[in-house]
Amino acid sequence: MRSPIPYGRQSIGERDISSVVEVLRSALLTSGPKVEEFEGRLAALVGAKHAVAVNSATAALHLAMRVAGVGAGDRVVTSPNTFLASANAAAYTGATPDFSDVDPVAHNLDPEALRATWRSDTKAVVAVDFAGQPCAMPALARVARDRGAVVIEDASHALGGGFNHDGRSWNVGGHPWADATVFSFHPVKTITTGEGGMFVTDRKDWADAARRLRSHGVDRAVFSGLGEDEDAGMAERGPWYYEMQELGYNYRLPDVLCALGLSQLDQLAGFISRRREIVARYNEGLKEIRGVDLPGLLDRANRDLISWHLYVLQIDFEAVGKTRTEVMAALRSRGVGTQVHYIPVHLQPWYRRTYGYRVGKCPAAEAFYRRALSLPLFPAMTDQEVSHVIGAFHEVIGTATR
Ligand SMILES: *Cc1c(COP(=O)(O)O)cnc(C)c1O
Repeated sequence: MRSPIPYGRQSIGERDISSVVEVLRSALLTSGPKVEEFEGRLAALVGAKHAVAVNSATAALHLAMRVAGVGAGDRVVTSPNTFLASANAAAYTGATPDFSDVDPVAHNLDPEALRATWRSDTKAVVAVDFAGQPCAMPALARVARDRGAVVIEDASHALGGGFNHDGRSWNVGGHPWADATVFSFHPVKTITTGEGGMFVTDRKDWADAARRLRSHGVDRAVFSGLGEDEDAGMAERGPWYYEMQELGYNYRLPDVLCALGLSQLDQLAGFISRRREIVARYNEGLKEIRGVDLPGLLDRANRDLISWHLYVLQIDFEAVGKTRTEVMAALRSRGVGTQVHYIPVHLQPWYRRTYGYRVGKCPAAEAFYRRALSLPLFPAMTDQEVSHVIGAFHEVIGTATR
């Protein structure tokens, strides 16, 4: 049997390959000219003042926590309907990751739920743009900022997307309702560098701090001296000299991968429009199936601005008369790979053990999880493949209309 159509995969062309090869032949494999070029191009694209390239979105989220001063004794609230990293980044700092429930349409953090469950030790909110649909950022920012917390947008799904507010459109990463935004370049995401991420902000102090922490807390422009050891023959500061001002990491994104990122960025508009076309075909081909709900829009005005990362159906498996495992197996035997996004993070064993979280904490996210199934969505899918997925889905679920 041919391997099934995966739920997501990268698009790598000859131009991507030659741009990587070019850097492989150059002198600098890591901190070279492509890093700043990639940062500058991405910042300009989303309309942000600063962008700091790092080796994953997880690293970018960790840096966001660090520059926001999040640490032990603080609480960081995120969506339970996300990948582990959105919450883990807070735990790395010693803060307590916490979860607020999602809305029933976009399955993003619900501003009303956030307000109702607010706790005074909350220092940051990590808003996740699930499936590419932007959160209600102005409303979330209002709840968080009125209470003295910062807003970090986990836009790992949403590069190139935007939303309408107050009569104009705003880019993800380029609007005033997030203090910093992170993107992921993992192979299933909108563009890829193999592994990689970007930390984006308008705050110069945060960008400088993120750059320093990306490379072991060393800032080649800041020397505070070695204190009394200066007198012990340690004062000479030649070209070798550097100082570590705080505890940082190696979160650098190599020049080789920034070259790939640049070449992928050239193709971003095409990737997004192909994803939108596939979503439109799915919406048409899968409408009005009993027990199946299509992805919802929080605001219809945003329809043409969303950069779709996932196509997640809500399926009433009881009404359909099959378990999710049976549906996935039947689709797989017809050459269609599927996935489930996401197991609510608060129900992961480590989160239960460490923080005592239980089923019932976020009922909307839990209900969403029970019914969720992601169909294949990636730009290289052909129209025949999309039609094949639709046909296979009808065969497996049954075509009785409601
Ligand atoms: C993929 C993803 C991440 C982590 O990205 P990496 O680049 O793999 O670290 C974080 N948050 C969300 C919502 C993601 O989908």
